[in-house]
Amino acid sequence: MKKIALAIHGGAGTLVRGIMTPEKESMYKAVLERALQKGYLLLESGGSAVEAVEASVKELEDSHLFNAGKGSVFTSEGKHEMDASIMDGKTLNAGAISLVSGIKNPISLARDVMEKSDHVFLASKGAMQFAEKLKYHLEDEKYFYDELRFQQWQEIRGTKSFKLDHSVNKDSKFGTVGAVACDSFANLAAATSTGGMTNKQFGRVGDSPMIGAGNYANNKTCAVSCTGSGEFFIRGVVAYDLSCLMEYKNLSLQDAAEELIQNRLLKLGGDGGLIAVDALGNIAMPFNTEGMYRACKSSDGADQISIYMN
Ligand code: ASP
Repeated sequence: MKKIALAIHGGAGTLVRGIMTPEKESMYKAVLERALQKGYLLLESGGSAVEAVEASVKELEDSHLFNAGKGSVFTSEGKHEMDASIMDGKTLNAGAISLVSGIKNPISLARDVMEKSDHVFLASKGAMQFAEKLKYHLEDEKYFYDELRFQQWQEIRGTKSFKLDHSVNKDSKFGTVGAVACDSFANLAAATSTGGMTNKQFGRVGDSPMIGAGNYANNKTCAVSCTGSGEFFIRGVVAYDLSCLMEYKNLSLQDAAEELIQNRLLKLGGDGGLIAVDALGNIAMPFNTEGMYRACKSSDGADQISIYMN
């Protein structure tokens, strides 16, 4: 059996050691651990990378602690508009949805777009119509409500600014979620899901559902899921650029990931991080913020759940 590897993230941002209570910290770690186990057990039993990343992301979406699914941030109109995407590195098939509401697990809808439609990206009413056709149950607004997210929105409500949920307050909760996997057949997949940015303008789409910006997978190179200020990840085409640095410049996964996050993204003015795996089961998780909720496990012995730098 070839190596298997899985990495997940729950957002990058102003995570400063000592500001969060130990209880809160263990809550976050417990959810990360659960999400990691979900996907890893699937990989261990011969499941595909696509199945594993969907399973891990669903677990994170179901927790109010992260800005995806339940606990998504508020738009400028006080609503939740969620984005998600998934990509299969073996076939280069991809599915993405944007500006959806009421969907408990946006990542599953993205996978359905990939597998049950002729399209890659469905947005807004079109995505909702597609979900309806597939008989998705719609949750009401209350399901997505989270007091802290609401307070974050109150702070900038009515202004023109929009913020990463990660960077509003030192003790604010963090965000966007993602998973990348290498399965026992050396197939790769990436999945990313988010509520976007607090007080974002109606109709704003971030990098998370954009194939090549916030999410990408290709068996030849890597699977990658990004988190941070989406506008910069879109302009830097970060996820695809990571694959390009490996394919055209022969950079290792780690070197390519560091170059993007510590150099190219910073030069654009962007903050955030990414998680990535390659088909040899290597894992990279760089970020240029104070912290990033992250975890990884591989048959090679990698086993980590971390929040802060080092
Ligand atoms: N990248 C996400 C977006 O801009 C935000 C995040 O990573 O938390 O929508």
